[in-house]
Amino acid sequence: MSNQRKKIIILGGGTAGWITANLMATHWQNKGFDITLVESPDIGIIGVGEGSTPPLKGFMETIGVSESEWMPACNATYKVGITFRDWSVKPGFTEYVHPFVGQPDQFTIPAFFHNSYLRRKGVDLEGHPDHFFLATEMIRQKLSPVAPENFPFEIAYGYHFDSGLLGQFLRRVAEKKGVRYKVATVAGAMLDAQGNIDHLKTTDGEALKADLYVDSSGFRGNLIQQSLKVPFISSAESLFNDSAVVFATDQEREYAPHTISTAMKYGWAWQIPLTNRNGNGYVYSSRFVDDDKAETEFRAHLGLLDSDVEARRLKFKVGRVAQHWAKNCLAVGLSQGFIEPLEATALDMVQETVVRFIEAYNNGDHTDKYRDDFNNRISARFDAVRDYIVCHYRISSRADTDYWIANGTNEKISPSLRSILMSWMAGKNITDELLDQKLDVYFPNVSWNCLLTGKGVYPSQEQLRSGNELAHKYKIEEIKDFNRRCALNFKSHLQQLHLLSLGDGG
Ligand SMILES: Cc1cc2nc3c(=O)[nH]c(=O)nc-3n(C[C@H](O)[C@H](O)[C@H](O)COP(=O)(O)OP(=O)(O)OC[C@H]3O[C@@H](n4cnc5c(N)ncnc54)[C@H](O)[C@@H]3O)c2cc1C
Repeated sequence: MSNQRKKIIILGGGTAGWITANLMATHWQNKGFDITLVESPDIGIIGVGEGSTPPLKGFMETIGVSESEWMPACNATYKVGITFRDWSVKPGFTEYVHPFVGQPDQFTIPAFFHNSYLRRKGVDLEGHPDHFFLATEMIRQKLSPVAPENFPFEIAYGYHFDSGLLGQFLRRVAEKKGVRYKVATVAGAMLDAQGNIDHLKTTDGEALKADLYVDSSGFRGNLIQQSLKVPFISSAESLFNDSAVVFATDQEREYAPHTISTAMKYGWAWQIPLTNRNGNGYVYSSRFVDDDKAETEFRAHLGLLDSDVEARRLKFKVGRVAQHWAKNCLAVGLSQGFIEPLEATALDMVQETVVRFIEAYNNGDHTDKYRDDFNNRISARFDAVRDYIVCHYRISSRADTDYWIANGTNEKISPSLRSILMSWMAGKNITDELLDQKLDVYFPNVSWNCLLTGKGVYPSQEQLRSGNELAHKYKIEEIKDFNRRCALNFKSHLQQLHLLSLGDGG
């Protein structure tokens, strides 16, 4: 790299912008980069996105922030998985947990794979995922996933948090790392003769010039989509939801460390526990229901029909840009795409995009040498997440509305997902299929197995036969006992959060 300092402008101060600022400032500390984040005083952040996956823990560790610093400041709670309710009408399979899988689960996963595989072949074995994972037991007992010193196994967990407070917290951390914050509304980008961004023009007429621009301007995609005209590849054919209505409700006295996703008539509703409130949202498809009817259904679901609590309504588009890094611009966050929030993967995608970009930019000696590799990698991740989420809808056994019938019969799914489903239905082991299709780049084999078994994609009870002794080699009672005894090591969720608020996470 030349000795000249490189200037980076990050456009947007939502969660994506501040995660980017922190990662770049941390990885490129003392490496000659000047980073400025520009945010409009008039255009707000989206203000949803309050559930994470386990990599957020790694992000906080990378930027040097402890749980006792950030979690109380953001009203955050722990998350060990997502409980899916009413997505299936198959008896015994109307609810299941998609767990974050940790080290103790490695002892029970062989039993889960064995039982579920043979059940697909028609043997009457217990194949519901909830019997096999520690996370499910933690949710049942409302435990925190923070392991004590004398429990030497890694537990995977994510978080729930107030997205507005998280942005403010990350801003303070980034500013301490030297990131400059500028309030201005960008009116447009001026391109040079090669089509690179030369400078941004603010509504006050100021020119903001940098070597590299990060577009974190949200769904607008001001730079990547509007100025650089990178095409947007829509996923609307396979993911019908495009709207949400959002409410906060009071917090209960005790709450478990999970997000609850309940299937509704025209989509699904999330419930996310924060320390001071529950975040609730109904994600639905405007092709099948109008906004007023959806809000009424959601109010009824929450018991708020007579309440005057104000709702926020949102519109979104699903899909991704064709290139996340185009010319001298990197798109991060909603500007690069969005695959609806069912598995809370968006912030993980933000982290992955920035970390892989830094790697590619460093390896290419701060040139675009590895741009295509980077773009292919990030797009593959988006597509793998999309297929997993589409699978939720495609295999749902609900048929109570046009919405569910259209989802359950939708033929516009990717060839990769089609071949996974065909393998599963044929009773084959899907591990090789996942590897070949690179569909395990985001959700591993065990997650795919949880999804398909949790919704009861098995032969019907009448088709099952009892099977021999070898088939019954794992005893469910022993597995449950193993998880119960592991769970004895953990504090209650509330107790752990209380300790954090006192500045003690240990
Ligand atoms: C219904 C819904 C539920 C979601 N749930 C989850 C979830 O559970 N988990 C998860 O990980 N993600 C979730 N997401 C996604 C998550 O909300 C976003 O990924 C995250 O908030 C990051 O958004 P952002 O920073 O890209 O955009 P935004 O929050 O929209 O921020 C955009 C920023 O750009 C600035 N800006 C825009 N235009 C200009 C301009 N011209 N000049 C200057 N500044 C400008 C704005 O001021 C703002 O600061 C959800 C999204 C939706 C729609």
